[in-house]
Amino acid sequence: MNALSAAVRNGLKSAVEAAGKDDSVEAVVVICSGRTFFAGADITELGKPPLPPSLTDVLVAIESTEKPVIAAIHGTALGGGLELALACHYRVALPSARFGLPEVKLGLLPGASGTQRLPRLIDPGEALDFMISGEPVDAAKALQTGMIDALADGASLEADAVAYAKRLIEEAKPPRRIRDLPAKTPDAATPAAFAEAYRKANARKLRNFRAPNEIIRCVEAAMTLPFDEGLAFERKLFQELLDDPQSAAMRYAFFAERKAAKVPGIEGKPDIGRIRSIGIIGAGTMGTGIAMAFANAGYPVTIVETRQEALDRGLANVRRTYERSAQRGRLSAQDAERRIALFSGKLELEALSDCDLIVEAAFEEMSVKIEIFSALDRIAKSEAILATNTSYLDIDRIAVSTSRPQSVLGMHFFSPANIMRLVEIVRGEKTDPQVIGAAMALARAIGKVGVVVGVCHGFVGNRMLEKRQDEADRLVLEGAAPWDVDRVLYDFGLPMGPFAMADLAGLDLGWTRETSTGETVRERLCEVDRRGQKTNAGYYDYADNRQSAPSPLVEDVIRDVAKSKGIARRQISDEEILDRLLLPMINEGAKILEEGKALRASDIDVIWINGYGWPAYRGGPMFHAEQVGLAEVVDRLRALEAAHGNRFKPAPLLERIGAEGGSLTDSA
Ligand code: NAD
Repeated sequence: MNALSAAVRNGLKSAVEAAGKDDSVEAVVVICSGRTFFAGADITELGKPPLPPSLTDVLVAIESTEKPVIAAIHGTALGGGLELALACHYRVALPSARFGLPEVKLGLLPGASGTQRLPRLIDPGEALDFMISGEPVDAAKALQTGMIDALADGASLEADAVAYAKRLIEEAKPPRRIRDLPAKTPDAATPAAFAEAYRKANARKLRNFRAPNEIIRCVEAAMTLPFDEGLAFERKLFQELLDDPQSAAMRYAFFAERKAAKVPGIEGKPDIGRIRSIGIIGAGTMGTGIAMAFANAGYPVTIVETRQEALDRGLANVRRTYERSAQRGRLSAQDAERRIALFSGKLELEALSDCDLIVEAAFEEMSVKIEIFSALDRIAKSEAILATNTSYLDIDRIAVSTSRPQSVLGMHFFSPANIMRLVEIVRGEKTDPQVIGAAMALARAIGKVGVVVGVCHGFVGNRMLEKRQDEADRLVLEGAAPWDVDRVLYDFGLPMGPFAMADLAGLDLGWTRETSTGETVRERLCEVDRRGQKTNAGYYDYADNRQSAPSPLVEDVIRDVAKSKGIARRQISDEEILDRLLLPMINEGAKILEEGKALRASDIDVIWINGYGWPAYRGGPMFHAEQVGLAEVVDRLRALEAAHGNRFKPAPLLERIGAEGGSLTDSA
């Protein structure tokens, strides 16, 4: 990866200095061998005492060279690698090259002058979008913004870069040092107004998360301070972020994701080249989302439904989703059509006889699943992988309805499945390790994060979520308002609380008027046709613009239900709400670990970050437990147990590790 380790920094600095002194050298081209231009800092050096020379010193040496220095970029110029390219005087890149400053994903900012150089080179608003998303851009976009000067034609990057250098020499072009360029001025009246407007426009996305806010401050500094002072400011904020728990959490999450990919017993890289065609059963919410996830990665998909209307509706949804992405500029119209063309819809399961992977996403009912899998057993080819997207059902029971339980597993996607990154890869009792390995590799091939989990009710994510939901419902009956519960979780950093979420998903999932007992708040709301956002009323009232407001009627319903259950209502503090929502999740996570249903605590955290919007800057529930202190978590659980009953009884694993002063997330 040509990481900018101490050895590489040393080599670069002395080479550039030598070239500067060598009279036979007229210009310098910085080019990398191997697969890529410098792909960033050596992440293993983070947190250790810095080794000289610092990257900034190397960049100063490059930029101050009296001869034109040209960066010749292929592969991915990432992080420090891109900052190095920005210290060069000119940039030439292959059309396939990509550029990114992903530091924000580790809770950091580009700390080797990126925040000071980029806004001097490109529009500051674009510079902010680029650094705050952390997402790479392609060469065409880089050229359009002005981040690079020219595209190589592709035959030989080195030859093109040398030709570019010769032209500079012929035209007697001096080194163009970004540090000497005036910072671009934005449309806003002042840099402060510009920063404020940016903050406001992105408030929801940026809330609580420190790194993006510091990046904005740095860009503002680039516009107001001389370069060297800006650099010092950047360095100071970088150091602060490095010492901040948010960055520690995000670095943990980064490595946790890598760890999740390693599954004991599955060595080497599974060959998934043979898996080409995908079958999906059910064209509902999940089936169409999963199908799009595969089509987005170029796989042809066949969707099977029972009724023509359902199939038509599903395929129309797919088309609408792609067309909307194209309208929003996220996809070219051509790409949208190409993806739509990968779909075919059928009404008989026999159409899946040639599929290499079949994902079932039909109704959540055991009888339905068993009927489908026993039919698949007759229809699917012998080497096909048979997956179910069930949320709660026993995969071992589904597997034994076939004569090939070794080929059956759960691939539990999250809604919307074309967007959410998580896939729980559910290992059945008899699932072949090769099948698990292939499913993990496939998840990765379609840009998802696979995490291996065991069979239990709700697997890992939903099993923990249920504990939180149960407690949220109790809190509301005991005296907290739904909007208080939601606010506490939102302020903690989750995208939304359980009641706003329920309104979004629909309160009537699994509810019917005939079977309604009227015993829960949710049932009572359904009975008066408050079924969530789709009826403009649920736990909240909704205005036409989907703006939500607390509902007095809901408060009455809650009081009524609490009364009928004999529950005394009281004032409940935000601290209690948060503890009662999070601690049972953590406790359940510990039980999941004890039972071996997750391989490691960090896998649980990967699940919560990628499937449920747990903020990465808080590292996941198990990491959070360690931040609070395991002994403290156990104490608080015991106090809750004394007050509310044994559902809060601490898991033995938590008690043991808490008492030993050990760590959940270091183990395994
Ligand atoms: P849905 O009701 O939107 O879609 C199910 C579709 O399956 C319907 O269109 C139905 O006509 C079709 N279908 C039913 N039986 C069929 C059969 N025998 N052959 C072919 N098609 C059949 O449901 P959904 O929300 O997409 O859920 C599907 C599955 O995914 C369930 O097992 C559910 O638990 C699971 N799941 C749902 C979510 C979610 O957030 N909705 C998340 C993860 C997993």
